Order: sequence, then structure tokens, then C-alpha cells
Amino acid sequence: MSDKKEIEVLLPPEVAYDEYARYRALLAAAQLQPGQADFVHLRRRSIDARGRQPQVRLRADIWLSRPPTDLFGPWFEYPDVSRARRSVLIVGAGPAGLFAALRAIELGIRPIVLERGKDVRTRRRDLAALNKEHLVNPDSNYCFGEGGAGTYSDGKLYTRATKRGDVQRILRLLVQHGATPDILVDAHPHIGTNKLPYVVQALRESIRAAGGEVRFDTRVDDLLLEKNQLRGVVTATGEALEADGVILATGHSARDIYELLHRRGVRIDAKPFALGVRVEHPQQLIDQAQYRRQDRGQLPAASYSLVHQTQWQGKQRGVFSFCMCPGGFIVPAATAPGEVVVNGMSPSRRDSRFANSGIVTAIELEDMDLKQYGALAGLRLQQEIEQRACALAGNTQLAPAQRLGDFLKKKASTELLETSYQPGLVSVRMDEVLGAGLAERLRQGFQDFGRKIPGYATNAAQIVGVESRTSAPVRIPRDPATLEHPEIRGLFPCGEGAGFAGGIVSAAMDGERCAEAMAALAVSC
Ligand SMILES: Cc1cc2nc3c(=O)[nH]c(=O)nc-3n(C[C@H](O)[C@H](O)[C@H](O)COP(=O)(O)OP(=O)(O)OC[C@H]3O[C@@H](n4cnc5c(N)ncnc54)[C@H](O)[C@@H]3O)c2cc1C
Repeated sequence: MSDKKEIEVLLPPEVAYDEYARYRALLAAAQLQPGQADFVHLRRRSIDARGRQPQVRLRADIWLSRPPTDLFGPWFEYPDVSRARRSVLIVGAGPAGLFAALRAIELGIRPIVLERGKDVRTRRRDLAALNKEHLVNPDSNYCFGEGGAGTYSDGKLYTRATKRGDVQRILRLLVQHGATPDILVDAHPHIGTNKLPYVVQALRESIRAAGGEVRFDTRVDDLLLEKNQLRGVVTATGEALEADGVILATGHSARDIYELLHRRGVRIDAKPFALGVRVEHPQQLIDQAQYRRQDRGQLPAASYSLVHQTQWQGKQRGVFSFCMCPGGFIVPAATAPGEVVVNGMSPSRRDSRFANSGIVTAIELEDMDLKQYGALAGLRLQQEIEQRACALAGNTQLAPAQRLGDFLKKKASTELLETSYQPGLVSVRMDEVLGAGLAERLRQGFQDFGRKIPGYATNAAQIVGVESRTSAPVRIPRDPATLEHPEIRGLFPCGEGAGFAGGIVSAAMDGERCAEAMAALAVSC
């Protein structure tokens, strides 16, 4: 008889989320008595809401004898690199930068991570000031600071970029640094904004414990460029730092980095991105529509993923949901005063009364003023809309908003709904913020989504502007084989800011790849 039985079952949520009931149900499905199994290893958990009653699909291995000790994969260990011969400067301590640093350590290279923002704890004060006093610190906000844009987020960890790296490896690293092991099992894993800061701190401690450096309040303002070779960087205080390579992982909101590259003649390209609004519904409305029952019971807050092809003035553009946060909050994600940007996050329990999601439409190169702004055309368009949102809402962090039914009828909202967005909302016609083309495409998208989810496209929901930081509007090119900039040796554009990742896991995987590429190059030189 084989040592383990692999089984797949569909169970009611009440059984699937109760540890003891689940154990008994799994054994029964494997036709085993309690006592006959040594260990039950849950491998996958997903919700199947297609039938009349939602069910939970579980895949498990039931071990009849003691399972191998490396069932969950090997524990990662880091050598001491404090005296390593080679070093790498990593600009940005987001997921790309932190995972690049850990991988560099594994490869015997000493990382020096330079982060413009503050450590997670101190950063929290700036977030409070942003939410309560509308003060935007350009170096410390929801996008900048330890852990990058992902720290105060939903911490959703699913990615479509499965071919770009080892997703399980990233998830296991996160578990080793304090994330719940559930992320190794759930089909749609997430960590939650209350737990992410601890994971991020543990990642930083691993880097430091191995002899790497992580410096906060250290903004990179210039490059040590000699012809086509990058030797290092210069910080805002004028300190020049050199290393064997520079991994540039500054994220999609570091506009000053794009401007710097442009100014110093380092090639960057305009890139399509997406822009729109965030829509907020009562979570109960989404639960009822998705689970088709009054009370969701033990099921997690329901989510959705929507897409629709629109047509406007002869141009086809997709409208889609982005970064849906069930049981979450809308947050102010501006990185400079004078702009209003929104995004979403949720705690690990996803227990707020609101469901929010970005609803965005693709902005293609032909939608940008390339003639006037060249490589920065997408960035300028993003900036223009964010600044208009701010001006129309009164030049604070109050965000422009409109009830969804009113938006569809092109009518101003006389009253807004309660919201999770802490700085507050102002009634503004969203057409004025977005312009006719974008607004029309979003309207077509919302109309279609209303046909898919009952109650979705009504005045029970409101839209909040603007959701503009979905991905980078600029690409920093790189050689697909060496991952170096095609014209600048020693520069490794990395993560979301360079246009090679979209989300926490894909950015982390890209960080690892850049560290490997830098290590390979340093050896071959
Ligand atoms: C509110 C919010 C919620 C999100 N929710 C999710 C989610 O649930 N799941 C998901 O997968 N993704 C989510 N995202 C997106 C995700 O956070 C990003 O895709 C990811 O963080 C990108 O990683 P990165 O390391 O490439 O860049 P970033 O995380 O943006 O990190 C870049 C870092 O570089 C630093 N930096 C910038 N310029 C400089 C400079 N000149 N000098 C020194 N340092 C600099 C910044 O301070 C920042 O810390 C969310 C984003 C936000 C804002």
C-alpha cells in the first residue's frame, strides 16, 4: 500500500473551516478510520460558488506513515556576507528590493538597500497624518517606505506571472518570515495589512543578520554614470556609493527617478497602463450576489473579477476590475501634495463592511501625447488627472466621488454614501475628473458588470477617484538575457517601476531574478 492517499473533496463551508470536522470528513472520504492516518497535509483550498450552495474544494494528502521532514520544502538559510568581495546597491525596499537582497545574500553578494522612506513603524505616523490631516509626505506614504507599496495593502499574493519565477518559493519565504501557512494552501492567498508590516520587518532583519545593510531615509537623487557604465548612486545628502551593480527597484510612483533617468540620457520608454476609479459597495451586497445566500456564514468575504471590452470613437479598450479588496478600505495613495490617488487594502480577516475594487481602463500609447512629452507622456497624463481630481475636490486629500447610478445617468450626486475612505469624499461629477473618453468607457464597463452581478451598478455603490497607480506608465528597458539596461552596464531595472512586475509576488520574483543576473554578470566579468 502507498504511504499516502491523495484526495479531493467538496465540503460545505461549515465543515471545511472547522478543523476537527474537516479532519473527519477528509478521513471519511479516504475511507480511513481516525488512528489510521499519521498526518493530513492540506494542499489546496478554493471556493466553488457555481452551484446553488457554495462549497469548499479541498485537496489533501493523507499520510499513512510518518511524512518526509521536508514536506513543506527546505528552510532558507543565509550565509554571512558582511565581508563578501562583491556588493550590490539596491534602490528601493519594496518586495522587489527586499527579495533581491535576500537572493543576493544566498549568492554570496552583500546587499546595501537604500530606501527613501521610513521603517514600517515610523511610516505608520505619516499614514495617520495623511488620513487625518491630509498631509502628504513625498518620501513616506502608502507607496514609499519599508516594504514598498505592498506593506499597507491587502497583501493578495496570487499572480498570473507563474512562468517568471517560483511562486511557491516566494510564498514559503513569506511563511518563514511570519506569514500564515494558509497562504501555501489557499487558491487566492492574502496576508492582510495588519500582518504585512511584521513580515516586512522580519525580511529586513534577515538581511541585516546576514551582514547586509538596509538604510532608511536615504533617497537616491543621482547616478554615478561614466559613459555607459553605472558605478553607483548619489543620495539626497550628497553621499556617493559604489558597488558592483545597481538594482533599481523604485516602484511605479518614483516619478523623480523617471525624470532623473530622462535627464541623464538613460533610455526609458512610454508604456501603456490603466486608469479609472475605485468602486465601493456594501460587502453584504457582494456576498449575497456571489454566494446567493443571505448570510455568508463562515465563508470569506466574497470577491469578484470582471472584464468587458468597450468601444468608443472606433477604439476598443478593455475595462476591468483591479486589486479587488473584499472587506477592505479605500486609502489615499498620493505621493505628492496637490494630487489625489486612491487604492485599496484590507485586514487579514477582511471584515470591514465595505467591498472595494479598482475599475480601470487601458490607456494605450495612442491615447498619450507622445509628441509633446515623449517617454514621459503616460506619466504626464496620470499626473494631470490626479491633479484635476485634487483641485475639483478642494485641494486636500478629500477625494471626488459620485454614486454609481448617478454616474451612469450622468447626474450629480446630491448625497454620498458612507465610505471607508478616511480623509472623506466630495460630490463631483466624475466625467469632469476623467474626461469624456475615459468616463464613457467606464460607463460601458459598469453597465456590463451590472448585468453580471445583481445590484452592482446602482446607487447602492459609489465611485471614488482616481485609481491611477495600477502599473508603471514608463518602462526602463533591459536586455532579456542579462537583465541589464541595454545601454548602461551595471544597471538592473527591476520590479514594477521598470515595468517587469505587477503585484507583490511578481515583483519579489523579479527581484530574485535581477540578483541572479547581477551575480552571473559579476562572475563572468
Ligand atoms: C494601497 C496598495 C494596495 C496594494 N495591494 C496589493 C495587493 O493586495 N496585492 C499585490 O500583489 N499588490 C498590491 N499592490 C501593488 C504592490 O504593492 C506593488 O505591485 C509592489 O509593491 C511593487 O513592488 P516593487 O518592489 O516593484 O515596488 P514598490 O513596492 O513600489 O517599492 C519601491 C520602493 O522604492 C522606494 N523608492 C522610490 N524612489 C526611491 C529613491 N529615489 N531612493 C530610494 N528609494 C526609493 C519607495 O519608497 C518604495 O519603498 C498594492 C499597492 C498599493 C499602493
